[in-house]
Amino acid sequence: MPISLDDPAKLRKVRDQAHQVAMNLLRPISRTYDRAEHTYPRELDLLAAMIDGLSDSGAGSGAGASGVRRDPSDGDGPAGGSGGVRNGTNLASVMSVAEMCWGDVGLLLSLPRQGLGNSAIASVGDAGQQERFGRLWASMAITEPDTGSDTANIRTTAVLDGDEYVLNGEKIYVTSGERSDAVVVWATLDRSLGRAAIKSFVVPKGTPGMTVERLEHKLGIRASDTAAIRFDDCRVPVENLLGSPDIDTSQGFAGAMATFDNTRPLVAAMAVGCAKAALDLTRDLLEQAGVVVDYDRPALTQSAAAARLLAMEADWEGARLLMLQAAWMADNRRANALEASMAKAKAGRVASDITLSCVELCGSVGYSEGELLEKWARDSKILDIFEGTQQIQQLIVARRVLGLSSAELK
Ligand SMILES: Cc1cc2nc3c(=O)[nH]c(=O)nc-3n(C[C@H](O)[C@H](O)[C@H](O)COP(=O)(O)OP(=O)(O)OC[C@H]3O[C@@H](n4cnc5c(N)ncnc54)[C@H](O)[C@@H]3O)c2cc1C
Repeated sequence: MPISLDDPAKLRKVRDQAHQVAMNLLRPISRTYDRAEHTYPRELDLLAAMIDGLSDSGAGSGAGASGVRRDPSDGDGPAGGSGGVRNGTNLASVMSVAEMCWGDVGLLLSLPRQGLGNSAIASVGDAGQQERFGRLWASMAITEPDTGSDTANIRTTAVLDGDEYVLNGEKIYVTSGERSDAVVVWATLDRSLGRAAIKSFVVPKGTPGMTVERLEHKLGIRASDTAAIRFDDCRVPVENLLGSPDIDTSQGFAGAMATFDNTRPLVAAMAVGCAKAALDLTRDLLEQAGVVVDYDRPALTQSAAAARLLAMEADWEGARLLMLQAAWMADNRRANALEASMAKAKAGRVASDITLSCVELCGSVGYSEGELLEKWARDSKILDIFEGTQQIQQLIVARRVLGLSSAELK
């Protein structure tokens, strides 16, 4: 059977809807909220209500970042009749997130109820927790002043006291940490037991002992708030621990890390969308300057600018295909940790390279605030940093390809 590299037919509608939203709702307010850092974009409330409506009607699976999960009922069964291939919510999510980020990454990250904490709840939470927390807007708090890439080093503690856990510690760089309804906090039940003792806890906003200390000023994604949060004897019910409370040292970090297998393809999607925005605009600007890219002639026979654009588009296509593969594997319940990291590594790097190269190709027009190119070059950098940096993704890929443990390859 020939391989089709087209988007699956049944997902084109959700992709096209997301593109319309990006073009008509996000782009027009993109510059405004880049300048008005820390101001909540009120326009997003309407959009979030629309997405909720679509989800309730069953028509919106994958409309935003919370769509990821590994549900046996995902997809609509065999496609092509050859072996139960599913194109489900993970694929729909990356496709729509990429389109929304063609509009604006910072605004996508600010969408109510579509936080990375929502993805964690969808990935690790049981049915009861999906029911209780599914309607909240949840951010995700892993990073600490002494813990970045080395997530196993988490110092925030969770101590069982009766039917509650008591959390103590400090989290930094929490995306949507001020605006969200709840924070999914990674904390250790027992530091002496290492990675296996790290669990995630849902802490609703307003819980005594949780304080948002400050918001960060940033290079890009300025529409998105990034908070530092303290936990001082902050109590949550035992039912707020996501997944199993057992410390299974044979399983190591696998439980909490499962979230990344679902969220890394989403970050790859953000990068794919942001880079596409830069490519589309650059192609238009070059065309206005008389440089028309000819897709039927070898790059070497065209102008340097056209050849550069063609090379960037090829690099972008590689990132897009890795993103689709990682999400598709999740839909088909195949282990995708390697592919999720490959997609994130490739897309994160490609987005930074492409957006900055587009600024360069367009010269002063690219650098000025008259166009959004300079903004996309700033916005894209974070996509190569959060949810695991470029270097960490490469380390994960190397470990998996070489069959080495984290102790063997650091
Ligand atoms: C805007 C923004 C939003 C964020 N949102 C969130 C969020 O919602 N939730 C959250 O928990 N965190 C969030 N973060 C934090 C982000 O995930 C971390 O910044 C990231 O994990 C890197 O950690 P670090 O900054 O401490 O860098 P470090 O881990 O100190 O790394 C510094 C440099 O060293 C490299 N490095 C580290 N270890 C190795 C190694 N073993 N081999 C090779 N190179 C290595 C890194 O790649 C990097 O280049 C956010 C950060 C920013 C800036």
